[in-house]
Amino acid sequence: MKELLRRFAAWCGFFRCPLCKEKGGNGRNELCPECLSLLELLPAEGRCRGCGGRNDSALAVCSGCMAFPARPYSDALAVMEYSGAAQTLIREMKFRGHPELARPLAYLAVEQLRKSGMEFDVIVPVPLHWQRFLKRTYNQTELLASLIGSEMGKPVIRGLKKVRATPHQSRLKKSKRQKFLKNCFAVRDRSFECKKVLLIDDVLTTGATVTTAAKVLLKNGAESVKVLCSARTPLKIKLVPQKKAYREKTPDMP
Ligand SMILES: [Zn+2]
Ligand SMILES: [Zn+2]
Repeated sequence: MKELLRRFAAWCGFFRCPLCKEKGGNGRNELCPECLSLLELLPAEGRCRGCGGRNDSALAVCSGCMAFPARPYSDALAVMEYSGAAQTLIREMKFRGHPELARPLAYLAVEQLRKSGMEFDVIVPVPLHWQRFLKRTYNQTELLASLIGSEMGKPVIRGLKKVRATPHQSRLKKSKRQKFLKNCFAVRDRSFECKKVLLIDDVLTTGATVTTAAKVLLKNGAESVKVLCSARTPLKIKLVPQKKAYREKTPDMP
């Protein structure tokens, strides 16, 4: 009966989309079809195991991820590209006080997780340092984790804590990210021991955060770690410039 009423109310246009605020919401806080069409969803199958995005190589990882050392986690899934409407959606949730946007993101993640067939026993969210938590009043990754956990019937373990505040990853150069993250995570709850862990983060850029967190989980007894992130920043591969000397020596083509 409740479901029937929801559908009727949605048909009458009672609900608004949580992102564009236009009529067309379905009462479950899912995005309207127009907002959905603006997101660049990534394939759940045939993805790169390093960044969870499209795999443009015949190997397990994409050409962008080949520039990185092997990651400690065994698989990764990114729901969408971090661009356009996806960027707005995540920034609104994370920095502009809209935790309710975790729900549409969680629905999208559950859909992709089911399509991917990724297997896991428990969910562990990437933690937030307490100072940032006090400022924001919520941890968007924990919200995502608990919504995904309840949709999929999997327990959420707050297995890690952040013991050192670090600058925003997006403001750091790629070479400095790993250095700043060193020793920043510690174990909070060991219930993930001997379990297949799904580690959740909101945005994956170089993978430095999930790499550091996965290492701590594996070192402390997790059977395996897989990664899920709402969005992936497209990796930019820098082409090595030709050396001047080489260019000078190269004879002109006939
Ligand atoms: Zn909308
Ligand atoms: Zn990749």
